Amino acid sequence: MANLIEFIEKKRDGGEHSADELKELVSAVTDDSIPDYQLSAWLMAVFFKGLSDRELVILTEELSRSGAVIEYPDDLKIVDKHSAGGVGDKTTLIIVPLVAACGAYVSKLSGPGLGYTGGTVDKLESIPGMSLHLDEERFQRQIYKIGCAVSGHSKELAPAEGKFYKLRDVTGTVPSIPLITSSILSKKLAGGAHSYVFDVKCGNGAFMNDLKSARELAEKLVTVAQKLGKKSVAIVSDMEQPLGEWVGNSVEVLEAVKVLTDRGPSDTRELSVVLASNMLCLSGAFNSAERAADECFKAIENGSALEKLRELITEQGGEGRVCDEPEKYLPIAEKRFTIAAENTGCISRLSARPIGEGLRALGGGRLKQGEEIDHSVGVRVCAKVGTVVEKGAPVLEIFCNDEDKLQAALPYLRNCFEVSESAEPRKLLLDRIS
Ligand code: URA
Repeated sequence: MANLIEFIEKKRDGGEHSADELKELVSAVTDDSIPDYQLSAWLMAVFFKGLSDRELVILTEELSRSGAVIEYPDDLKIVDKHSAGGVGDKTTLIIVPLVAACGAYVSKLSGPGLGYTGGTVDKLESIPGMSLHLDEERFQRQIYKIGCAVSGHSKELAPAEGKFYKLRDVTGTVPSIPLITSSILSKKLAGGAHSYVFDVKCGNGAFMNDLKSARELAEKLVTVAQKLGKKSVAIVSDMEQPLGEWVGNSVEVLEAVKVLTDRGPSDTRELSVVLASNMLCLSGAFNSAERAADECFKAIENGSALEKLRELITEQGGEGRVCDEPEKYLPIAEKRFTIAAENTGCISRLSARPIGEGLRALGGGRLKQGEEIDHSVGVRVCAKVGTVVEKGAPVLEIFCNDEDKLQAALPYLRNCFEVSESAEPRKLLLDRIS
């Protein structure tokens, strides 16, 4: 770049970059000609001064074009979904086959777990044999053949965004609404889908801790997507407590199979059907959310969504019998430890974040990029906010392999809940922005 110092100073002082400056920035990041310390300084300047919508649209487009871009024919309406992180959020495992079983095409590019939040790639990798690194040709072929595919992001898609993300992760610049927006949307654009549903999480287990900032992120995602010519809807959902019953990798696959056999927890099913019906409407397969939701319930009841999950798993080399006997074919740790209520009352707090941290301490998440994880460990949430518990009743059940890791996890897990005289159940769906 011509003068990097002036470029950084411009953003530091609240200025607006020109299209040429942002293009030069992304090309310097792509060819590694900008040092990390200067890119970090610029990211921090953006963290404090933000980006205008015009800057955001240009930056997002440039990041998306920094590598390969997948293209689908316009008449094949491809829909994608993105969750902005969370604990116990296994909806992707349910939605992808569910939406495909109801007639739309789903192209799902996912990431590994980030910090204390879980990732779809890690969860699906707990299925024996399952491959999550499909090349673009195989990925597209599978979508045409069975209507859906899930793959980890290849390094060829939006590589400059990958470099931004790695630096943000270690410079305290992750929770920035413009940087999250460009990060998510540039990868979505490169992935080639025609429309997107965003699940923006809100609460202590999410990047956005309060409703105001979660709404702001949801609005920004929808506005910038629209300016980029893509249809989208954002749902804001609760992440103050974990979603569903299980937190982990293989155990979240277990819960997804249960939801698809009509036996899973109601909050996981409710959020999955809301997201899936929005995807079906955006894809053009349905024109009313109620009719789309009815179709989703039907696909769960008649088993076609579960059959689609089996097809997805076997097509990607995995053990399809996970859909029949998940406890038998998934690795699930055998050692158990129960944390019980110390008095009778009502669960008034069940914080998602320490449960995510506890899972990571058990070995189910990473402290460093690329670290091996233990897919078999997990935490079962036996009582959610608003549930009455007797003294001595289990609140959390821990499935683990290693005594030292269990001891490291216990301080998080023992302190993640409170029992009080009374408490209302939490509202799951907080807003919808379209
Ligand atoms: N997910 C992303 O892909 N990027 C972010 O910046 C945050 C969440």
